Amino acid sequence: MIAALDAAVAVQLRATVESAVPPRTVRTVYRFPIICECAPVPRRQHVTPYFFRQGPLLCGLWLAKFRPADDVVLPPQASGNDA
Ligand SMILES: [Zn+2]
Repeated sequence: MIAALDAAVAVQLRATVESAVPPRTVRTVYRFPIICECAPVPRRQHVTPYFFRQGPLLCGLWLAKFRPADDVVLPPQASGNDA
């Protein structure tokens, strides 16, 4: 009887633990590097294509526009026609 209760409690405990742990969803957002035209060292940062498309990104030093880094190939929907 006690063994049966222990087993029942163990099953319930395991179900509780499993339901308390949310499924692990790793969502990786694509980001690409952009650089500004500042000399001697351009600043570099990573942004999402959506963020880049929202509008011109200006560097605060020379007010130069950030552009995708040379080693970046943007997906078709991410490249603007303002270059
Ligand atoms: Zn800059």
